[in-house]
Amino acid sequence: MSRGHGTEDKVDGAEDGRAGEEPGLSLGGLAQDSLWPGKVWDRRAWDRGSLTRLGVVFVVLTVCSWLGIALSRQSGGVATIWLSNGILFGLVITQPREQWLAYFVAGLVADTAADALWGDGFWLPLGVSLANSVEVVTSCLVLTRLFGHPFNLSRRRPLLGFLGVSVVCAAALTSALGASWTLLWVNAGPWLQLFRTWYLGDMLGMALMAPLTFMLQREDFFSILHPERLANTLLLLVVPAAATLLVFSHNGDPLIFFLFPALMLIVFRLGFPGTVVTIFVVALVSIGMTVKGHGPLMLIRGDHVLLHRIVVDQIFLAVAIFTLFPVAALLEERAALQLCLEASEARYRSLASLDELTGLANRRAFNQRLGQEMENEQELALLLIDADLFKRYNDHFGHVMGDECLQALAEVISGAATVPDAFVSRFGGEEFAVILPRTGLQQARMVAEQIRAAVMEMGLPHPATQSGFQTVSIGVAAFGAEGRGVVADLVGRADMALYRAKDSGRNRVVAE
Ligand code: GH3
Ligand code: MG
Ligand code: MG
Repeated sequence: MSRGHGTEDKVDGAEDGRAGEEPGLSLGGLAQDSLWPGKVWDRRAWDRGSLTRLGVVFVVLTVCSWLGIALSRQSGGVATIWLSNGILFGLVITQPREQWLAYFVAGLVADTAADALWGDGFWLPLGVSLANSVEVVTSCLVLTRLFGHPFNLSRRRPLLGFLGVSVVCAAALTSALGASWTLLWVNAGPWLQLFRTWYLGDMLGMALMAPLTFMLQREDFFSILHPERLANTLLLLVVPAAATLLVFSHNGDPLIFFLFPALMLIVFRLGFPGTVVTIFVVALVSIGMTVKGHGPLMLIRGDHVLLHRIVVDQIFLAVAIFTLFPVAALLEERAALQLCLEASEARYRSLASLDELTGLANRRAFNQRLGQEMENEQELALLLIDADLFKRYNDHFGHVMGDECLQALAEVISGAATVPDAFVSRFGGEEFAVILPRTGLQQARMVAEQIRAAVMEMGLPHPATQSGFQTVSIGVAAFGAEGRGVVADLVGRADMALYRAKDSGRNRVVAE
């Protein structure tokens, strides 16, 4: 029989759960009255895919429970890490609530069956499995009530909640129940010793396996394995792996704290996903090496020496988890905040340079761009475009239609300014400006003519122009590749040309 005696294993626990995405079953935490808000069971929540997943989870949990018992027997009956509860929690918490009950039951059956396979009868395994269920069910209900569903384990506050509720409290409750039930059936030593062994294994399993299972279901976990980052990730992971092997292949000095700089490197460079994986690997290596008689914990001597060494290793791992996970989650939160701020800054920056009505660049962006272009020692032309008799257009059709006319003009001008890198902007009121980089006066005049013709062809009726349509007048000015002037000079010259175009009858292009 497996569970039981303080030494033997930790009894399995739990039910299983499923992975996946959470549709909108948001319960918003405290807003709900009952502890299990929403339907406990809903047939419609199940399709072929989710039933298959449930089956797979059942098998995985049976194997993990069986493995947990096997491992504990190999390490002299000392429970080291109890895997199933954390895995089940990590799988259930991502699922719709309507599926939870089925996962809890599947986990309970898997756990009992695995234990029974070790020949422990029926009632002892069943009671121990129920105790394990308490850990998973309590964690799911309390955490989603406090932090809402979907529950994001990689965020700082939910993570701290998880460490307090699941790792510290729920694991203690399960260990107390499991130890008490076991002692009713077998003589497994003093209650306190059995409780302690159970608790450390359970705690560690929950703290390691739940985040790992949770992260494996998230896309951002795999970002550290993206081909572009893979080499860097592997190189970084080598550092804690090498440090752990080094520390645990050396029996002479208590150098276990040497691992912290390597772990901090991972926290800062690979974030929460990398930290979870790394601590899992460190746990496997350190427990394995300690059981095999290597490493700094060999300095511990006396009675129950293996149990004592493993307890110290478990405490070391628990301290590492409680120190590093919150830091990793905090850094993750900071990084998300920074991305948010950058996106917001980019948005406001772009708004600050756009004209709201037409969507074109505004006067500020025009000034900036013209300043930049003036620095290039290449030809540069400028078109100033003014809507003809636009006041009359407004007077006749109203300002709303006037606005629509300006939008149409913006579109037509943008389409007709065919020079590469032409920069079209709203200069002000009913005036537009087009910067034509690497363009001489003659070509600029042709582009201006293109624009003038396109506006008239648009055929917007106008009550007062000669043609009967809305037209524009355009002034053109240019710098040659050599002599550069100042910005105001080019704008002033284009403005003069525009003035002449107006003066000579409108709907025309005048080049300086
Ligand atoms: P000209 O051919 O000499 O340029 O005559 P004009 O009527 O176009 O020139 P004027 O400067 O007298 O009038 C410009 C008009 O453009 C007056 C103003 O109401 C209108 N306008 C300026 N900005 C806007 C705008 O954003 N929306 C609308 N609907 N009208 C605008
Ligand atoms: Mg004007
Ligand atoms: Mg005008």
